[in-house]
Amino acid sequence: MTPETKELKMTKESENPFQAMLSRFNVAAKILNLDEDTYNILKSPIKQVVVSLPILMDNGKVQVFEGYRIVHSTVMGPSKGGIRYSMDVNLDEVKALAAWMAWKCAIADIPYGGSKGGITCNPSKMSKGELERLTRAYTRSMYDIFGLDKDIPAPDMGTGPQEMAWIVDEYSRIKGEFTPGVVTGKPINLGGSLGRAEATGLGVMVSAIEAMKKLNMDPAKCTAAVQGFGNVGSITAKQLSKKGVKILAISDHTSAFYNENGFDIADAISYRDSNKGVLSGYNKGTLITNAEVLTCNVDVLAPCAMENQITAENASEIKAKLIVEGANGPTTAGADEILNSKGIIIVPDVLANGGGVTVSYFEWVQNRSGHYWSEEEVNVKAETSMIKAFNNIWNTSELHKISLRIAAYVYSIDKIAKGVKAKGNY
Ligand code: NAD
Repeated sequence: MTPETKELKMTKESENPFQAMLSRFNVAAKILNLDEDTYNILKSPIKQVVVSLPILMDNGKVQVFEGYRIVHSTVMGPSKGGIRYSMDVNLDEVKALAAWMAWKCAIADIPYGGSKGGITCNPSKMSKGELERLTRAYTRSMYDIFGLDKDIPAPDMGTGPQEMAWIVDEYSRIKGEFTPGVVTGKPINLGGSLGRAEATGLGVMVSAIEAMKKLNMDPAKCTAAVQGFGNVGSITAKQLSKKGVKILAISDHTSAFYNENGFDIADAISYRDSNKGVLSGYNKGTLITNAEVLTCNVDVLAPCAMENQITAENASEIKAKLIVEGANGPTTAGADEILNSKGIIIVPDVLANGGGVTVSYFEWVQNRSGHYWSEEEVNVKAETSMIKAFNNIWNTSELHKISLRIAAYVYSIDKIAKGVKAKGNY
């Protein structure tokens, strides 16, 4: 662990992510006056699968990994959610992420329920062969869970198009027919959608710009800090800087940098790509701590790394006027209270990073129809959908005089609760 990551870990409040999800769910349920039956149906996942995966490692030894798949809800359609590879993966984290997927799909207005998966592993310490064996073993274990109309995985932290290619291949071999729509975020030549790789970051930018319009902030006069420089963080930074926002701070798990003149994001991305995927050693800014990325003097803060980064301990030091959550669950419930009382506007994860699942849905639609869209078509549809979702949540927040986060829960839980009622009694 580098000094920077050590410091960042210290800012983490020990908050159980599933409890964090439930605490907001409870507030929304009260506002909606949700009846007890529907409350009980919606608060718990409908399926929890935990598997042990024995994998032959390159050193000749067998290592047993723990894998998870949680289906939170299938009320609105087949469940949808990514697969995370990280040492931090645990049951409660995956349960929270699965619930967030259910709310996110309802907000994005796509016909899916929510799920999530993960394996407790350190992908950066594994060879390509080990990762392939692990991914294929996970797919075999989850064969009965996954399905084109049942449960559709996608990438998340630590996974990408390569893992999705192994999943589609393993699943198709067992089924005996090529089934590209069983997973999204695939490489383009295996049925992936143009625009999917950039979709989440593009959506984070769109929701930031929509919020800036409401707050009378001119992007060309604004500065931003972006935590995390993977798929979501780097594209968010790139898209924001395309809109004229100056990116003063960037970071990943290896290091954090500040540049008062703003970073050239294309340059930082090409440095990362030529440096084993990390920013460490980048020399176009001053080295700062990861904690300082969150509290530096900027107008917009985009946490795009992981959960529990903005906590009751550091929330009072945050100077940004607007927080746009690219990551899932970066702000704890304790921090929310402090930020709300300071008048800081938070565009919550379930709204801000919904561009990824929206284009995943487009990929699934294209796989099913066999007709593929241009990148421009994908981006225009995704942007239109993000703007609509943003305004739905903004209007809900104004109607009930509640934060955007609680509005997002109210909007999505109301929609799913109506689905429960329409389906009838149990
Ligand atoms: P990724 O693996 O591509 O990148 C993660 C980035 O975060 C890396 O740069 C990593 O170094 C950095 N990071 C990890 N730990 C950190 C720490 N302690 N401090 C600072 N940086 C740290 O993952 P991603 O796909 O970009 O996902 C990031 C977040 O966005 C996750 O919360 C994920 O659930 C969420 N998300 C991703 C997508 C998607 O389409 N990829 C969609 C919606 C939400």
